[in-house]
Amino acid sequence: MPSLYVHIPFCEKKCLYCDFYSIENRSSMVDFLSALHREIEMYRSLGDGVTFETVFFGGGTPSLLSPEQLGSLLSHLHEVYKIGSDAEITVETNPGTVTTEKLRAYRLLGVNRLSIGIQSFHEDELKFLSRIHDANQALQCVRLARAAGFENLSIDLIFSIPGQTLARWKSNLNQALSLAPQHISAYSLIVEENTPLARLVASKQVSPNPVEEEAEMYEFTMKFLGSHGFEHYEVSNYARPGFRSRHNYNYWTHENYLGFGPSAHSFWKQQEAGFGKRWWNIANLSHYCERLLGNQLPLTSQEFVKARELMNERVFLGLRSDGLDLTRFEREFGVLLSDTHESTINQLINEEYAAIEDRRLRLTPKGFLLCDEISERLLP
Ligand code: SF4
Repeated sequence: MPSLYVHIPFCEKKCLYCDFYSIENRSSMVDFLSALHREIEMYRSLGDGVTFETVFFGGGTPSLLSPEQLGSLLSHLHEVYKIGSDAEITVETNPGTVTTEKLRAYRLLGVNRLSIGIQSFHEDELKFLSRIHDANQALQCVRLARAAGFENLSIDLIFSIPGQTLARWKSNLNQALSLAPQHISAYSLIVEENTPLARLVASKQVSPNPVEEEAEMYEFTMKFLGSHGFEHYEVSNYARPGFRSRHNYNYWTHENYLGFGPSAHSFWKQQEAGFGKRWWNIANLSHYCERLLGNQLPLTSQEFVKARELMNERVFLGLRSDGLDLTRFEREFGVLLSDTHESTINQLINEEYAAIEDRRLRLTPKGFLLCDEISERLLP
């Protein structure tokens, strides 16, 4: 079932490691919102006859929106697109930007899931990452969210922060568990190009953790969260049964999605024609607003994704998430991977990198450590 994504391109302060498109200056918020409303309107016809299953406000920091601003966006989305009555509606939330009143108001607007960017419970790690919140605000945010009536909370954590030991990472995971979230996303710190972190690494002022230590933390995370009742359903994502992110799952299974806002991506399949179309918006707020004011789509580029690329992506995305559905793959692409790649699959199973359950080829924790290499071997 299709999804809607809305990118809010403002942050109170840029974090050291972040390469998502966002700016600190919020003076153009009003212009941005009116451009965004225009863009939402422009894809109206594409949504004809479609029911959207998830709405995700990401960024940037969507929790900077006032309840009035968020409410106006949500009611416009409901007016233009059909959104299922049980849709998952998520707001990415920065602990330094919320109050009880704001979270209560979000809940009343129909938001039913918060994805809280905590990243760490250690003050020095939060400072290193240049997050705006402290450990106390992180804990408080979860409590406020519960008090506001949220029953579906996800916590984002980062591991392998330079200098972080396994013991400190364990204590972050323990602290996260004590808050009883339904979902945890645990990402290793990636040094993205053109970020302040990349410059610090290049000038040798910061040394990334050794890869063996990072692998050790990752292995520990899989084991630890698994033993506490979390399903490991994507390389970096863990959920209590029934609480997987439906929005992300749609991305990973090639469902259609429409993205609004600067830098947002969209994907729409032309099933009969055997390909998909992908397009993405300009990552510049003033150009985004100018284009929409002139009634033009704010696109940077678009591409047609042919069946072969879709197949390759499906292998990669399936193995990264909860397995490659061999029956669905055959139905959609006419290729029976269990025949064409029989010996590779058998070898992966014998060496305990993968297992097959209900015609779904799934990586084991050992396989997740080599996800990219294994995907390469299984490309059709
Ligand atoms: S708050 Fe999130 S989006 Fe904003 S700079 Fe930090 S990591 Fe990036």
